[in-house]
Amino acid sequence: GDLHVNVPVKSKDEYGKVIRTFNDMTLRLREAEDARRRLVADVAHELRTPLSIMQLKLENAQQAGQSVPPEMLLRLHDEVIRLGLLVEDLHVLSLAEAGRLALDCKPLDLSARLEQIVDDMNVEAEENGLEMRFSSNTRPVTVMADARRMTQVFINLLTNAVRYTSEGGKVSVVIEDQVWDQNALYVCVSVIDSGIGIPADELAHLFDRFYRVEKARSRHTGGTGLGLSIAHHLVRAHGGFIRVVSEPGQGTTFSVFLPVHT
Ligand code: ADP
Repeated sequence: GDLHVNVPVKSKDEYGKVIRTFNDMTLRLREAEDARRRLVADVAHELRTPLSIMQLKLENAQQAGQSVPPEMLLRLHDEVIRLGLLVEDLHVLSLAEAGRLALDCKPLDLSARLEQIVDDMNVEAEENGLEMRFSSNTRPVTVMADARRMTQVFINLLTNAVRYTSEGGKVSVVIEDQVWDQNALYVCVSVIDSGIGIPADELAHLFDRFYRVEKARSRHTGGTGLGLSIAHHLVRAHGGFIRVVSEPGQGTTFSVFLPVHT
């Protein structure tokens, strides 16, 4: 129904207060409702493209009266995999946005985990002609984290670093000295690339779902446009935050701040 309800208030007494609270609540409900509508529209849009590509390919093959050639089956399979990843990402994101993502937090040795992740990602980096390094400038740090989710955060950031850095470039992961921020002690992990960078006016939207710096540029890189939103929500769910600095043509640094387990 229409949530655009606003009761005019004149009285300054208790009655007026109740009405103002009511107006405030309807405003918030309307914002939530708008956000939900946008999400449904975004999802429909994102699912439509791969689905219509698959439909078209199958119909063309059918019309030609041929069986589907093996290479087309491979491409269709890729599209199905991509759709599956998109649905999985959406599921995680919707749970995280609703604050209903169950985290299995345990003490986690951050250096050890990052070293392992960088090791695993190195194959992909080398295939892309990139050098990927891990280094630590601090004593071993323990954070309270869901190892699987935290791994996903860094895989998302590293996948992007590889995706948006051309051959011969560098990607490094650095655990930096602990920093005080907002009156708590945080450890900072930076993912630094020497890639194409992000224009300053795009930085503010970067963590929005489905946001991509250049639609055309990003389309064939195979991502879902959800990687950074998911990373943002997962880090927040761990009591941390992400910062980004970037210089177009020079590279990008994403820094993940996580509260230190003491
Ligand atoms: P995608 O699946 O498109 O990579 P993300 O949410 O992970 O979606 O990233 C959103 C957009 O931010 C990307 O499409 C890309 O334009 C930009 N971006 C993310 N990481 C980097 C990076 N390391 N260097 C340059 N651009 C990046």
